[in-house]
Amino acid sequence: MYRSSKYDQSMKIYKTIADLRGYRQSTGPEKIIFVPTMGALHEGHGSLVQMARKIADIHGIVVASIFVNPTQFGPHEDYHKYPRPLELDMDHLRRWGADAVFVPSLEEMYPDGSAISIDPGPLGAVLEGAFRPGHFRGVATVVTKLLNLVQPAVMILGQKDFQQQLILRRLVADLNMPVEIITAPTIREPDGLAMSSRNRYLSASQRACAGAIYQALCAARDHYRSGQRDAATLQSAMYTLISKAGMEVQYALACHAETLTAFNGLVSSPAVLLVAARLGTTRLLDNMLLE
Ligand code: AMP
Repeated sequence: MYRSSKYDQSMKIYKTIADLRGYRQSTGPEKIIFVPTMGALHEGHGSLVQMARKIADIHGIVVASIFVNPTQFGPHEDYHKYPRPLELDMDHLRRWGADAVFVPSLEEMYPDGSAISIDPGPLGAVLEGAFRPGHFRGVATVVTKLLNLVQPAVMILGQKDFQQQLILRRLVADLNMPVEIITAPTIREPDGLAMSSRNRYLSASQRACAGAIYQALCAARDHYRSGQRDAATLQSAMYTLISKAGMEVQYALACHAETLTAFNGLVSSPAVLLVAARLGTTRLLDNMLLE
């Protein structure tokens, strides 16, 4: 199926597993390019769907999903207040060129009696996994279910959630799932703040400070580029800039980009700077590869 630039009218919306399976059976040999999301879509999601559209225009179909997955939220996190602007999200997906969207209910995804979950392994225990116990078990489980349902050839994920894409790469490799993962670059606001559905929780004054995370990442990267290899120096440069902007730094680390082990001493390639900081009650995440 080749579609021209007029994407707006015919996007299919599937709310049940049975309907999605029916669609999947009718799609034939075309490759599915899949973009899983939790909705509250922004231009960061847009870049993933548009990338999917480009790949699909050669030989495929773009399927997105919107599901706010309760099993990846901790008991005191924002599951209930997570924004769900469904109609607006559908308009965005049409505009970006999705062919179909899967929007299951909670009961559809986790019927009573669901008992099996996926252990994300050691990568799931550190960094975000340490601050949000159980988070990556929830992510790995729901993505496994979505991959089983959608059966894509390609899944597109954002570098914004660096640890998540690494764990999901491990998941599909270790469980022999026939899907290629593409990691798409982080889309940012003009001041460098990584776009996120949670940015809308920020007050105007908090929003004015939030660009400091990107500035801190750039500063550490610039030190690295000019030859600085001491992990503690890079980390304290980030820590200082982020805390000066009024944020509580949860971690600001230089880590091995495949194992996520924090460097102790000298940083060597492949390396990634990973930051989580709290601004009021909002947690902001960002990262930058050191190349
Ligand atoms: P979420 O809806 O937050 O679960 O995100 C769905 C997908 O969009 C994930 O693969 C995210 O990494 C990706 N994503 C979120 N924000 C951005 C961004 N600013 N730039 C690129 N990808 C993003």
